[in-house]
Amino acid sequence: MSLPIVLLILAAALLLFGVFTLVPVYRTYRGKRLITCPETKQPAAVELDSIRAALTLLGDESPRLRLTNCSRWPEKAGCGQECLGEVERDPKACLVRTIVADWYRGQSCVFCGKPIPEVTWTEHRPALLSPDRVTVSWKDVKPETLPDLFATHKPVCWDCHVVQSVVRERPDVVTVRPDREHLWS
Ligand SMILES: [Zn+2]
Repeated sequence: MSLPIVLLILAAALLLFGVFTLVPVYRTYRGKRLITCPETKQPAAVELDSIRAALTLLGDESPRLRLTNCSRWPEKAGCGQECLGEVERDPKACLVRTIVADWYRGQSCVFCGKPIPEVTWTEHRPALLSPDRVTVSWKDVKPETLPDLFATHKPVCWDCHVVQSVVRERPDVVTVRPDREHLWS
């Protein structure tokens, strides 16, 4: 077998290994997560070094995890990262997008009453209505505050969030018909 063919086979093998072994690990550990800080027992938002987790598979049987960011950093940047144990037990359950999707699932918009569509990264994202009746997108709040917000806020669909934002920011260009006011109060 000639050298170019051997190199071609090796390259193809490496490519297949990357696609079927490293990429799934990278996808598993990317994204923001909400964990309970072992020190404070309070929610904290963390991110993992997903590239490192995938590459450590080249030498180990299981990926080695390490934080790249935490909402308690830089003050606690030297912590022992004990929260990684929670991530290792169930990497998907603590993903922010999993937690958000679980909360909205089965809920209806507090304004229009329509069911909130399944939360995805690409579609319009739903919002939250605060106790003082201001809507805010869940993407615009700190992830570590989401557990508290879910306890005190109500679900709002994207359409109503947009309408409420315009009403709030440009009341001069919006006229709310009296027969619709009850929907917004
Ligand atoms: Zn709505």
